Amino acid sequence: MTTDTPTNLPVVPHWIDGAESPSSSGRTAPVYDPALGVATKHVALADQAEIEKAIASAHAAFPAWRDMSLAKRQNILFAFRELLNERKGELAEIITSEHGKVVSDALGEIARGQEVVEFATGLAHHLKGEYSEQVSTGIDVYSTKQPLGVVGIISPFNFPAMVPAWFFPIAIAAGNTVVLKPSEKDPSAAIWMAKLWKEAGLPDGVFTVLNGDKEAVDGLLTHPDVRAISFVGSTPIAKYVYETGTAHGKRVQALGGAKNHMLVLPDADLDLVADSAINAGFGSAGERCMAISVVVAVEPVADDLIAKIGERMATLTVGDGRRSCDMGPLVTEVHRDKVASYIGIAEEDGATVVVDGRGIEVDGDPNGFWLGPTLLDNVPTTSRAYTEEIFGPVLSVVRVPSYEEGVALINGGAFGNGTAIFTNDGGAARRFQNEVQVGMIGINVPIPVPVATFSFGGWKDSLFGDTKAHGAEGVKFFTQQKAITSRWLDPSHGGINLGFPQN
Ligand code: NAD
Repeated sequence: MTTDTPTNLPVVPHWIDGAESPSSSGRTAPVYDPALGVATKHVALADQAEIEKAIASAHAAFPAWRDMSLAKRQNILFAFRELLNERKGELAEIITSEHGKVVSDALGEIARGQEVVEFATGLAHHLKGEYSEQVSTGIDVYSTKQPLGVVGIISPFNFPAMVPAWFFPIAIAAGNTVVLKPSEKDPSAAIWMAKLWKEAGLPDGVFTVLNGDKEAVDGLLTHPDVRAISFVGSTPIAKYVYETGTAHGKRVQALGGAKNHMLVLPDADLDLVADSAINAGFGSAGERCMAISVVVAVEPVADDLIAKIGERMATLTVGDGRRSCDMGPLVTEVHRDKVASYIGIAEEDGATVVVDGRGIEVDGDPNGFWLGPTLLDNVPTTSRAYTEEIFGPVLSVVRVPSYEEGVALINGGAFGNGTAIFTNDGGAARRFQNEVQVGMIGINVPIPVPVATFSFGGWKDSLFGDTKAHGAEGVKFFTQQKAITSRWLDPSHGGINLGFPQN
């Protein structure tokens, strides 16, 4: 890292052509340690020349990588997996120092990313085509899956390792070259992973990190040599990325924001529900796209459930994620203040603040971006605190008289990322999975993130495009199919016929 900012802090560089590439744009943004509340480094913000350099390197690396044998690519993936598994502790510390989540949670996100690397090691199987013999007399048809070329990945701050890893292992395994644009709030994990790829033997230019802001994103969205974009972030930016990328002829999958509801039926075990609501509401300080943010309590359970959730909240410890605690700070001061403002909005709109996390005193630095776990009851569904994504440790309770009203509430929302039902009634759970308009559903599982062999993605404003992340859909996204119709001629094939080919 160079140290050319006015504050003399180190600058997180780009990673181009298999090496750190210092910023030449003269533009940087501060990167904070959220538990200390101070900027500890800056990150390079790419300009047009740096964008061109990054994409040109990836473009130049493509032909040789595309032609490398599956067996050789697979060996590099295995080596990356082994290195990641051995050294994940280093990566977790980096994530905590820039994101704020507790180290055990950072290790959890790395484990879920590693799962996709493991899935991608099966590339020889995933990339198999199909073959039909004798579809017409003497004619065979078969298909192959080929890589696209340079693909861009644009990721959010909340999972600086896992979200990029939803995409790059499969993209690389399939023979593409990748330009990753990480969040400018926590960019160091991407550079660490780039170094690991190099150690694993990946040729230079196959994995590039382009740090930056809107300018870098727009550069990827409009560049003619970028064939596909995988985006994850907030809904307005996801929509913009989808529209701009597709208008420039690219394949785009753009995963957006969320507002995930947990429907609690009266027959559920309320102790288990309370545990799940706490874990899914306050883990990673609620900065998870699959966090539960609304508990929909089918009466008469709400009072008992709120009491049980409240008891558990009193035991939660908030602090520096490097020390032993349950929950860390929020990612930036601006984000902390925005999340806290929703507590005021809910209160003004008539909600009851059962537990108020504002003004929490923490065993950590007083300047950290702290906000304690917060519980709101009777949140009006017209309040912005209900309709908008809060993305922090604020759990809302909405009371409904019946299962039907609960499902109608969930289906009436703009988002459709994840949801869960808590019940011991199998018939109700089966009905819920069929009726609810959401992409990922948990039955007594509060955060139903599918394993890597399945695909991750929501419905409605939570996903723009028609292809989800990883699993079979991930392989499909990063490959293009060819269908070949073949016949080996002999004299019986002679003659002229201008009609449409038929069987
Ligand atoms: P964000 O939308 O602010 O940023 C995401 C990426 O877009 C970053 O790389 C950022 O640099 C870039 N970006 C920001 N503003 C831009 C602009 N105006 N033009 C072009 N690019 C821009 O999101 P965030 O705050 O980093 O992440 C949190 C959001 O991500 C939440 O809404 C969360 O729900 C969502 N998320 C969704 C999923 C999912 O799977 N659906 C997963 C993780 C996070």
